[in-house]
Amino acid sequence: MLLGLLIFTVSIAFAQKPYELHHEAGNHRLDEHVQIYIDDSEQLTHADILRKDIQEQFIASNGHLKFGYSKSTIWLKLSVKKTSSNAEWLLELPAPFLEFVDFYQQQPDGSWSHHESGYYRAQSKRVISHTAHLEPLVFGADSISQVYIQVAGRSPKTFPVYIIEKEHFYQKTRFEDIGYGIFFGILIVMFFYNLVIYITLKQTNYLLYICTIVCTFFIFASATGYAGKYFWPEHPEWNFYAGRMSLPVITIFLAIFTIRFLEVKQYTKTMYYALYALPFLGLVAGVLTASGIMSSASNNLISLSTLIYLCTGIVCRIKGNRTANFFIAAWSFYLIGGLLLTLRNSGVLVFNFWTTHFVEIGAVLETTIIAIALGDRYRRYKEEKEEIQLQALQLQQEANERLELKVKERTEELQQTLDTIKIQKEIIEDKNAELDAFFYRISHDLKGPIASLLGLNALAKMDIKDELALDYVTKQHSQVERLHQIINGLINLTRLNIAALQREAIDFEKLITDCIESSRSLHSFEKISFKRELKIETVYYTEWTLLNAIVQNLIENAVKYCRPDNPYVHVYVKTDRNGLEIKVKDNGAGIPEEYQNRIFEMFYRASQHAQGSGLGLYILKRSVDRLQGTIEVESTVGEGSCFTVKLPTL
Ligand code: ADP
Repeated sequence: MLLGLLIFTVSIAFAQKPYELHHEAGNHRLDEHVQIYIDDSEQLTHADILRKDIQEQFIASNGHLKFGYSKSTIWLKLSVKKTSSNAEWLLELPAPFLEFVDFYQQQPDGSWSHHESGYYRAQSKRVISHTAHLEPLVFGADSISQVYIQVAGRSPKTFPVYIIEKEHFYQKTRFEDIGYGIFFGILIVMFFYNLVIYITLKQTNYLLYICTIVCTFFIFASATGYAGKYFWPEHPEWNFYAGRMSLPVITIFLAIFTIRFLEVKQYTKTMYYALYALPFLGLVAGVLTASGIMSSASNNLISLSTLIYLCTGIVCRIKGNRTANFFIAAWSFYLIGGLLLTLRNSGVLVFNFWTTHFVEIGAVLETTIIAIALGDRYRRYKEEKEEIQLQALQLQQEANERLELKVKERTEELQQTLDTIKIQKEIIEDKNAELDAFFYRISHDLKGPIASLLGLNALAKMDIKDELALDYVTKQHSQVERLHQIINGLINLTRLNIAALQREAIDFEKLITDCIESSRSLHSFEKISFKRELKIETVYYTEWTLLNAIVQNLIENAVKYCRPDNPYVHVYVKTDRNGLEIKVKDNGAGIPEEYQNRIFEMFYRASQHAQGSGLGLYILKRSVDRLQGTIEVESTVGEGSCFTVKLPTL
């Protein structure tokens, strides 16, 4: 009874005339030759479908199969008759993204076979492992095959139904594999090409771009069924992550990449904010898709974002960004492909080559053009850098030339100045020599009359008895004595210049003793306690006259300006490899600080009570200079002075 009902139902179900398969035409599109039942409840089983009431609701397809993002389960029924006994036929749904596809086929014994396929079903469950969904047709004695196809899930339900002869199918598959091989090959090449550039240049743009290539690769690999077949055949759930969830991720990368690549903020604030919003929309779309609330959210976001990239490119180009040319070209293709795909998915357009593959062509073009654009951008950046470097080099060269010219001018000026100074020095030296010769002559000429005057004075002092006259003569004597001193000083001075240096070993003991002795005539000499300290490590050679002038003057001054009570004069001499150091220290009047740097000037006297001519320290300084030494003075008024002379070993 049940079997009778079943046969009755089936005969109703396939009351339609079977579609005839001719061997010559290896590929038959059956969209218009199937009957359709839409199960809104998504609950019906194949047994339910065979029920009479359901069978009566099957309607003939009047064109292509476009159900868009319908959540309902689609039941298709078809009946085909083969005309050649040898031919083997396959039923094919070349839409890998269909989530759950079930084939129910009547067997020659009248029973029904059931085979599973689908985007979310493992390859091992399929009768034929392939990217698309296949069912080998079984024909009864009457050469008729009867099949029900159940298509369920959330993916867009726009797909064709083909019956294809086996050989023809393998041939078509080979072509498809070659086509996709080229497609994925280009993506892989682009990946490595940009990876190498990134490693070399370390520019973030390249890294972002590499991320977009990786996402593109996985989106297409899963959407075309290749990833499901080769990468994770037994884990079809990965199709969901790689296919659907990569869409929000690529949106995030592309938005950031576009902002940086086109320097959008500089050109358009509006598009900048629109791009900024995309990563957030990406997250929302990801959640909507993952939760199933709106499975088309990610796909729609891709269409929207593609439009935003293109608009950004156009606005940036209008505002003068030349790199945008490439960008516009890249996204135009992708946008057209994306739009075709979106319209196909939502059931507006039919499933054909262009609505399916234009987006893939667009993706390859986009990837390639952006790579070229990045290269162009880098080339321009390099050119600009080189230009700047060249300019900097030119500027530096110019500056160098200017500097050289300046240096040359200055050197010439300096040379002129030096020449002038040299001439002036020669003149001065000539004049000095003349002056010295003059001083020498005068001093010598004056020495005789002064000696006579001193002699006459001495005689006068002996003969004159009148006290007043004697006082006058004594005063006159002291002034003549002073005159004598000055003349001697001047003669010493002129000797300093004229004489060539004659070095001899110095006996410091004797030198100091002689110098002290020659100060004996000074009035406070007797009161002074002299102390000497000698540390002679090496024999010191120098011009005796000059060293004598130095020591003589230092001791004489220490005696001259001594204090009235307990005066002392310490002479300290030290010689070693480096040279000679002489210190003459007294506890005399001291020199006010403000005069200390002037006492070495000619005829300079630091106090009203100074008893000398102001020539002594001048001669000393000249002698020290001549011996290439230094002189320092430390002195405090009322406490005393210490003169330190250092002379090198000549
Ligand atoms: P003068 O012949 O007047 O001593 P100097 O050239 O020898 O001339 O000294 C310059 C001045 O330095 C002196 O007039 C004196 O005021 C001061 N002077 C030099 N040595 C001493 C000293 N040991 N103590 C105090 N004053 C000194």
